[in-house]
Amino acid sequence: MNITHIEHIGIAVENMEEAIAYYENVLGLTCYAIEEVADQKVKTAFFQVGQTKVELLETTDPDGPIGKFIANRGPGLHHIAFAVDGVADSLQQAEDKGIRLIDKTPRPGAENLRIGFLHPKSTFGALTEFCGKK
Ligand code: ZN
Repeated sequence: MNITHIEHIGIAVENMEEAIAYYENVLGLTCYAIEEVADQKVKTAFFQVGQTKVELLETTDPDGPIGKFIANRGPGLHHIAFAVDGVADSLQQAEDKGIRLIDKTPRPGAENLRIGFLHPKSTFGALTEFCGKK
């Protein structure tokens, strides 16, 4: 696989408006997009930081993945997303090397990107996402 950079870092928040105010008013970043990803039951907000983005995640359903994460572990760092040339190929290559996958095939993510997750039990506790245009 070919990882080019860290595409984004996902942060689970309880209150999107309060979190956006922190990133804008304290850190001086600008929220350039807010988007709901129905598939993942989340609302996302994006900030560009160089080549990388910060993705805030607020659940739209207590039973969604972010709702469960916050219930179990509280808000905070949720996942790291690597930009790859091909998400399907990269998932396959990871699986071939014995990594447990959450997504066997890519699914739609925010910003019209394809995404797929590796299981944190196989990635030393850091939920890992591959992210790409195809
Ligand atoms: Zn993500």
